Order: sequence, then structure tokens, then C-alpha cells
Amino acid sequence: MLQDIVLAEPRGFCAGVDRAIEIVEHALHKFGAPIYVRHEIVHNTYVVNDLKAKGAIFIEALADVPPGATLVFSAHGVSKAVQKEAHARGFRIFDATCPLVSKVHIEVAKLHKEGFEFIMIGHKGHPEVEGTMGQLDRGIHLVEGVADVAKIQPSQIKKLALVTQTTLSMDDAAEITAAVKARFPMVREPKQQDICYATQNRQDAVKLLSPQVDIVIVVGSPTSSNSNRLREVAQKLGTESYMVDSADELQAHWFEGKSHIGLTAGASAPEILVRQVIDRIKALGAVSIRKMDGIEETIKFPLPKGLKMDSSV
Ligand code: SF4
Repeated sequence: MLQDIVLAEPRGFCAGVDRAIEIVEHALHKFGAPIYVRHEIVHNTYVVNDLKAKGAIFIEALADVPPGATLVFSAHGVSKAVQKEAHARGFRIFDATCPLVSKVHIEVAKLHKEGFEFIMIGHKGHPEVEGTMGQLDRGIHLVEGVADVAKIQPSQIKKLALVTQTTLSMDDAAEITAAVKARFPMVREPKQQDICYATQNRQDAVKLLSPQVDIVIVVGSPTSSNSNRLREVAQKLGTESYMVDSADELQAHWFEGKSHIGLTAGASAPEILVRQVIDRIKALGAVSIRKMDGIEETIKFPLPKGLKMDSSV
């Protein structure tokens, strides 16, 4: 019989997502609709639809943005080629790239100047990976899994550096890193690991949560890398786990024979969706809610120049 809902801490919005959404909202307030956004500002259906309703237009190709328009780059970051094209087209640009992704871009540029080639651990086709790999014309080799490590062919092995997508599974990344180090013992690892604090904290919280519950529900959109990883972390610990984009996707039969329901949310999923999921699980019979103890996140990233509070927002 359904008893309680156990909420993971921390869960939901991270500082990079908060900032990216604020950038679009402040730009709408300051310059008026429409504001063009290259790619989904963050990978969440609710957030994107909410901003669309306020006047944001999401595009993939810069050719779809009219001259003179205001353009925002998404939190995932963009390649040098996209940056160059956007400037050449004369848009007013605001960059919502998460500062922790920019940190990786800066590191790549710096080490490239010193003659390094790179091995990037990440998911092919993810916009963050395209943005980071696109910081250079060549010399970044993508590995998605351990099997890829044997296939890459750097042109030299003395100056190789490792970079990772910020939203990977820490355990998977550690396994792939070990394989990279076994093949290239000289590889330079980042001083501070690239997987961001928010991804780490949410995965750690799910590791604590999973053994205490019968099922873990992750609120997140299918395109959200860090949300998918949360579901996998629970699953790997042997706890049945599902990811839902909204409360409507919850299936009553998932909860049959379950007592304790774990609930978390990816870094791009707003708390309102968590509340709606709670209401739905309560309607199915859960009687109480318990919050787990967890790290309190206090990180906040500043807005870009031109969108700060002096812009009367
Ligand atoms: S998940 Fe991490 S890298 Fe991505 S926006 Fe949030 S803080 Fe930045």
C-alpha cells in the first residue's frame, strides 16, 4: 500500500539553468518580444513552452533569425562557428552558456595553444558536446563509452588532455577515464573535474535515496542528459525507476505493491512539475511526504552585462 513520498535533496534547477531562464526573461522585458533562442534554452518542455508563451522563439538555424534581432545562446554553449556566424549576421547577442560549460571551453582553448589534443567523454549529438568540440577545428576525439577508447587515433600522445560533458554519470565517466588512462597514461586530467556540482549532487542524492524506496520517479524531459542519468543511477542500484516529463505521464500500475516512492528532478526541471507529480501520487494513495537531508546549494551565477538589474527588470 502506498505510504510516503521521499524527496531527494538537492533536486531540480541548478544555478546555470536559473541564469539561462533569467537571461531570456530579462531580454524579453528589456527588448520586448520576440527574443530568439538558439536551441532549447534548457532541455525541459515546460520551461520552453512557458518562454514561448512569453514571446521567445526557439530556432536551430541562425538563418531563421531576422537581421537586427536579439538572440540568446542556450545554456549548453555553442561552437566557435556558430558564434562567428551570429556576430556576422549582426544580432544583439546574449550568451546563456552555463559558466561551468564556458570553463571547459576556456580550458580547451588554453591547452590547445600549448599544443594539446583532447579526448572528450560525452554523448554524440548533444549540443554541449557539439559546442565544446566546436571550440577547435580539429584535435578533439569523442569517446562515448569504454569501447571507443581503443578506436581513437590522436596524431600524438605526449600532449593529450581529457575533457568531459558536464552532465555525465560520474560512475560511467570514471570507468571511461580509467580506460583512457590505461591506453594513454600521460593524459592530462582537468584540475577540477568537468562534471558539474549540480550533476554530482543530484546523483549523490539519488544514491542515498534509492535504497530507502521501492521506486524512483525522476522529473525531466527525454532530451535532458542529467535527468536521464538520474534514472540510470537509481536503476543501476536495483531500484525500479521512471522519468516523466509531467505528472500526466505517471502510470498508476507503477505504484502497485509499492510503499515508499522516491522523487527527484533533473537540473532543468522546475519545482512546479515536482508539485504536480506529488499531487498525482497523493491522489493514488500516498499519505505523507518526507524530505531527505542533503547539501544546500548556494551557487548563483551573475547575468551578462546589459541584462543586470540596472536594466530596470
Ligand atoms: S547542469 Fe551543471 S553545467 Fe548544466 S547548466 Fe546546470 S550547473 Fe551548468
